[in-house]
Amino acid sequence: MSIESIVQSTRIVLASRPDGAPTTENFRLEAVNLPELTEGQVLIRIIYLSLDPYMRGRMSAAESYAEPVEIGEVMVGGTVGQVVESRHPGFESGDYVLAYAGWQSHAVVVGDQLQKLDPAAAPLSTALGVLGMPGFTAYSGLLKIGQPKEGETVVVAAASGPVGSAVGQIAKLKGARAVGIAGGPEKCAYLLDELGFDAAIDHRAPDFGEQLRAAVPDGIDVYFENVGGAVAAAVLPLLNEYARVPVCGLIAHYNDATAPEGPDRLPEFLSRVLVKSLTIRGFIMAEFVGEMYTDFLRDVSGWIRDGRFAYREDFVDGIENAPTAFIGLLEGRNFGKMLVRVAEES
Ligand code: NDP
Repeated sequence: MSIESIVQSTRIVLASRPDGAPTTENFRLEAVNLPELTEGQVLIRIIYLSLDPYMRGRMSAAESYAEPVEIGEVMVGGTVGQVVESRHPGFESGDYVLAYAGWQSHAVVVGDQLQKLDPAAAPLSTALGVLGMPGFTAYSGLLKIGQPKEGETVVVAAASGPVGSAVGQIAKLKGARAVGIAGGPEKCAYLLDELGFDAAIDHRAPDFGEQLRAAVPDGIDVYFENVGGAVAAAVLPLLNEYARVPVCGLIAHYNDATAPEGPDRLPEFLSRVLVKSLTIRGFIMAEFVGEMYTDFLRDVSGWIRDGRFAYREDFVDGIENAPTAFIGLLEGRNFGKMLVRVAEES
């Protein structure tokens, strides 16, 4: 390989596993030379990196639905990039692609695993948010498991984020009442004024439980579980008979290093499940991709085009700032879909 053809990638690797909340010490910035392309491979420069709560799970060695990132490996993540060089017949230099290339500036990826993006169809960044994995998570989990009916009450927390904001808006489009839970007055105002939620409650308010009860006079028919913790504890007694609970995420617990103190709540929980005939169903969105992804893209892009669906993105610049932004995401410091702008679009 000639010196001229060597491409360096600046990347963030997992330096150590966190004990509790991650810190910047758990990450390391590195520069590596990328290998020359072999047949079927594509070199991309990364433009946007998606930061998502599930990445906290990949930092731990605990058993999960996916393998952990090994120490010294580049952090995983969804990316939007542009092809620099291609040895795959389906791609040429300049193409925009969706790739699972991780926390880095450049990557050599397998062409067959890329999805081409049309920058004229939608802003490129939306492929990581409202028109990507988080949007699909909301669409599939709510419609397949939650099954909201007209006039029913749907409650969702982390409601200003990409999953929660889509859950609330889809619930409204299906004729349900949407109640959003978010951290702080600014996020709550956004839910009411820009997303059309019927009620918004700040989970940090001292009287959060009473506010929630007052906001659901007819009880809760669908609780889209994004957080667990104190929010779930407040929701449980308000669930109606035959309520559905798609269990999507438990972000309040991702940093837990030990079991919570206090009384054992499992008997009370199971008793509620029994006497109210509740459906509690966990899911990983990949389960529904084959069945629902085409419908999702058609429906959500149509709603956005018709002005019936809004979304918000929260950008941080530079791959070196990904760790701090990720730590902030787990604490609710993001406001909208968290993205790292790794490079300019063109
Ligand atoms: P967000 O962008 O909404 O970010 C997470 C938000 O969670 C924070 O902004 C914060 O918002 C809120 N939060 C953090 N800690 C707490 C807490 N203790 N109590 C209440 N709220 C808290 O994330 P996403 O929309 O990307 O993801 C939402 C959920 O969906 C996550 O649990 C994620 O793991 C899950 N998920 C699951 C998938 C699946 O296939 N099952 C796929 C994708 C996501 P605030 O300031 O409002 O508190």
